Amino acid sequence: MALNPNNQQQADKRIIGFDCEFVEPPPERYVQSECPVCLQIIREPHQVTCCGKKFCKTCIEHIKSTKKTCPTCNEEEFSSFADKSSKQLLYSLKVRCSHQKDGCEWTGELRQLDGHLNTDPQPEKQLDGCQFVEIDCIYKCGNQQQRRYIQNHQIKDCPKRPFGCEHCHDYKSTYDDVTNNHWPVCGSFPVPCPNQCGSTIQRQNIDSHVADECPLTTINCDFHHIGCAVKLPRQDMPEHLRENLLTHISLLASSHAKQQAETTQQREEITKQQDKITSLEAENRILKTKINELEPMQQLLKTAPLIVNSRPLGPLEPPVLTMTNFQQHKRDDDQWYSPPVYTHYQGYKICLRVDANGCNTGKGTHVSVYVCFMRGEFDDSLKWLFRGAISYQILDQVDGKGHKTGTDTYDDKIPDKYCTRVTEGERSKNGWGNSKFIAHTELEPKYLQNDTLLFQINKVVLK
Ligand SMILES: [Zn+2]
Ligand SMILES: [Zn+2]
Ligand SMILES: [Zn+2]
Ligand SMILES: [Zn+2]
Ligand SMILES: [Zn+2]
Ligand SMILES: [Zn+2]
Ligand SMILES: [Zn+2]
Repeated sequence: MALNPNNQQQADKRIIGFDCEFVEPPPERYVQSECPVCLQIIREPHQVTCCGKKFCKTCIEHIKSTKKTCPTCNEEEFSSFADKSSKQLLYSLKVRCSHQKDGCEWTGELRQLDGHLNTDPQPEKQLDGCQFVEIDCIYKCGNQQQRRYIQNHQIKDCPKRPFGCEHCHDYKSTYDDVTNNHWPVCGSFPVPCPNQCGSTIQRQNIDSHVADECPLTTINCDFHHIGCAVKLPRQDMPEHLRENLLTHISLLASSHAKQQAETTQQREEITKQQDKITSLEAENRILKTKINELEPMQQLLKTAPLIVNSRPLGPLEPPVLTMTNFQQHKRDDDQWYSPPVYTHYQGYKICLRVDANGCNTGKGTHVSVYVCFMRGEFDDSLKWLFRGAISYQILDQVDGKGHKTGTDTYDDKIPDKYCTRVTEGERSKNGWGNSKFIAHTELEPKYLQNDTLLFQINKVVLK
């Protein structure tokens, strides 16, 4: 028999003799079967040199290691040796199972007893041997059961047995982990309805059950949106609908009427808006016509001096009268007329006569400037003879700071021909002004640039 004391021996529990009974009493003359230390059938018999007694190998070695005297004769000096012939005889004797009192009927040679008991089995031999031996659960749960019960424990009771969640069929672990840790969170785990309607629903479907199905969930009446404020458990709603048929119909009717009224009101609103658009369009057309009518007046304003009686007429500058080809006109010694302007809105039409080579006292030395009246659009409604003052200036083209101004006054002292209404031809042959307006020597560089003079009628005073 292969004993393996190192493997089986534990700190507090040494392997000692065999705990069993002989089927028939052993022949005492030939063999001492009981160990004087453990009082069981001797395992691995060792004989001592002092008194010749036999002990279990482990029992006597324990005595020697603790320096005790021989347990039977008290001799201090002794040694021990394996008694192979005793072992041979002893191990062939027939014994009953150690669990005879529990009900095991096994008998066999002593050497076969450990094999029958199979106390620390390999996993694949777990079920072999004495059914009354307590063995460890293979899942190491700490439980010990008689061999005849161990399978039942491992299949049905062991908290560490392999176990899969039967609800989601997905999570697999030990029974302990699945039931304690997984089930409280498993989405497929059946839980009772929180409304206590009696249904058991998978955890993941609780919300939709309560929202859409549960007979105990409080819901609004179907006619909530048109004014029925009743809230009832879902299961009571059909009765409410049956009993309040007329109420609901009248709610529907008044809601319908209200909607129609709203629709009518909206239609009226639309019509009103359309009318408004039509009238705005009409107004717009009228305004456009007025603008078109004003166009000629604007043109007139553009050609008129803007200051009348020292009062500005508007934001526009008086027009600049551009007169080019000075040298040619000077050589030709002719009468040179500016573009026409109006003195003011619906005023007198006038122009400047410029003699480049001078006239009368300015002949050959000066530029002469005269104001000439012209036949104008508004002459009928104007006062004649013209009375007042007209100012004009030749513009400084270098820095604009030295404009040279002349003013002609039209009072009772001047001859009528200079201020009378023009009835023949386009303009008066007579101009009133200044023969020595500006000397030729003064012209350059300020007033004559690119053979061009610039004039402006910048102020008109009416009397
Ligand atoms: Zn012993
Ligand atoms: Zn002894
Ligand atoms: Zn047995
Ligand atoms: Zn177990
Ligand atoms: Zn699960
Ligand atoms: Zn429910
Ligand atoms: Zn209702």
